[in-house]
Amino acid sequence: MRARSIPPLLLIGSVLTLALVPGGDSYTLLGHDLDFGVRDYRVFNDFEDVSANDNTTPHANFPGALGATLAIWKAGAEWGSTLHGDGTGDSTQSFDGIGSGGANFDFSYQGLATGPGPLWGNTHSALHASNTGLLAFTEFANGGWRIRYYDNWTWDDGPNSIGTGVYDLQSAATHEMGHALGLGHSSQVFSTMFSSMSAGTTSWRSLTSDDRQGVQAIYGAAAPGKPVITHATFDGLRVHLTGSGFSATGNEVWFTSKGPSAWGSQPIVTDVSSNGTSITVVPPVDAGNGDVLVRNTASGFESLSNAWPLALACSPISNYCPTTANSSGDGAVLGISGSQSVQANDLVLTARGVVPNQFSIFFYGQNQTSALVAGGTLCVGGPFYRLGIAQASAAGDVVYALDLNAPPDPAGQIQTGQTWNFQLWYRDPAGAGSDFSDALSIPFCP
Ligand SMILES: [Zn+2]
Repeated sequence: MRARSIPPLLLIGSVLTLALVPGGDSYTLLGHDLDFGVRDYRVFNDFEDVSANDNTTPHANFPGALGATLAIWKAGAEWGSTLHGDGTGDSTQSFDGIGSGGANFDFSYQGLATGPGPLWGNTHSALHASNTGLLAFTEFANGGWRIRYYDNWTWDDGPNSIGTGVYDLQSAATHEMGHALGLGHSSQVFSTMFSSMSAGTTSWRSLTSDDRQGVQAIYGAAAPGKPVITHATFDGLRVHLTGSGFSATGNEVWFTSKGPSAWGSQPIVTDVSSNGTSITVVPPVDAGNGDVLVRNTASGFESLSNAWPLALACSPISNYCPTTANSSGDGAVLGISGSQSVQANDLVLTARGVVPNQFSIFFYGQNQTSALVAGGTLCVGGPFYRLGIAQASAAGDVVYALDLNAPPDPAGQIQTGQTWNFQLWYRDPAGAGSDFSDALSIPFCP
């Protein structure tokens, strides 16, 4: 993909030829298709621009991913056979949702990579080199592929509109993954597979009918027998899938790798039986948050289902914002006991280092800030919601059981897939009058 100001040129080397398709369509085909062993893709997130990793808002359709990783996951999901989950997760695609390729084709998102991998490692990564005309490119070898993004350009992970002069990572990833699956450049200027892209726009994130016809020309339109997942849940022990087109025996269930993983592998459970519309399976220990797919026993591209989001583990909680010393010591630090499960509703907020026997109040909100207030730093941005009053013990500890079914305000209702920030305000009469703890960012899961 080239920067728009540069005349479009053939960017792929001598190995591949772009062939025009007869019949008036504008897409072109590279002449290959992706077999099932090279549908997996990973992100080696070494993008250096702050704007490439400043989207810190999680989305339930893309559990566990943020920043550049989330942008690239959405790009792969856009080519899928049907909507990814309920199709939400990108405000620029609210008109048709994410996942409208309509072909017998679906990528398998595999989370983070441990490095850029080989030419056939199916990994996205930044290339720490300069190119004055080329934004990104796709390489092919041994049946696989690899995508690199020149980091002399400024990349932006969205998720909404982006600034002028910077390039939309999700748009570029959608384009390059079109190459990976076998599409060349289109002559239609509005199609995602057009050869050059403008700075400051996000329109290449969404496929046009020309792009959809292209992917269907390689893999066929989504066939009636193609397995389809319409719902997936994890009860803590087993994954329950609902859908259609599952074989009676011999299904494969594909999961996303947990944590950074090397190229070329993915957790798969084989020989899974089904009544045709539901599957229950124990996820492998190396499976994590991501997508789940089912491959039935049919031959051909139509044997692999759509990719459906599945949260197997909650992202870890994190402390942010430094605490400040108070009249009794180094300051108050937050922690939790219990779980981040909305269903379990057993989260307990804890604090140590509070001024002994003094009153305190936990409060929470979805935004973060940093402002000096009284003796400390206010770290939770508005709007925030105050929980009940709690008294510190003689040891300076505070324990507060959160009841997710009784929020202090309806707008403060905590739901699965959301991340909320918590902080403790407490009295310090011998110090600055009052003070704040550090803050906790807590993702909530099913
Ligand atoms: Zn291109």
